[in-house]
Amino acid sequence: MKRKSGAAPGIATAPLNSISDTDVALARQNALQAVTAAYTPIHSVKLDGEFVSMCWFGRIDNAFSVLEFIKAQPDAAAKAESVAKLIETMRQDSQDAFNAATKAQSDYAAIALAAGKTPENLDTPQCQCDGCRNANSRQQYWLAVEALRKIVFSLIIPQDKDRPLLAIAETDDILIILGKAREAIENVEKTAKFAAIPLDWTTIYK
Ligand SMILES: [Zn+2]
Repeated sequence: MKRKSGAAPGIATAPLNSISDTDVALARQNALQAVTAAYTPIHSVKLDGEFVSMCWFGRIDNAFSVLEFIKAQPDAAAKAESVAKLIETMRQDSQDAFNAATKAQSDYAAIALAAGKTPENLDTPQCQCDGCRNANSRQQYWLAVEALRKIVFSLIIPQDKDRPLLAIAETDDILIILGKAREAIENVEKTAKFAAIPLDWTTIYK
């Protein structure tokens, strides 16, 4: 909606019903910038000796991996503490960025609606930065481990006060479950390899 042509110039506070296209465009631009700052890979992070771009999620996840690595080293307590502090700062800064994006998006939506326009969805597509991809592949591994545990435990831990399935189920049914367990094992191996996680079968059910 354009300002009425007869409106007096120089009025600082225009009434709500005269929101201009420029007002909407500025709010949209503001929201886009805030969303970009919050959710896109704009941070330079050193990964495997090279600098890559990561979003806040990827950057923080990567910092946790660095922290785990440092914690495994001898006499690295001081360094681990400084990385942990850095992570806390990053979490606060990222939360500020997420809050700012949410506010700018809702401000834009309100201004667009007040101007009689339908606000665009300004959400960014799911991030594919190295940090997010690493985090996703690790998550796939943990989901695969969880699925395997569930199958194995379903055989030995009863749902209620019954005896375990392994004692009461038909042999054919047990074979079906064992087949699923074998598939689940293969999936654990596949996802571990993809996520570069060293697989230790002795700890998988702990
Ligand atoms: Zn990312």
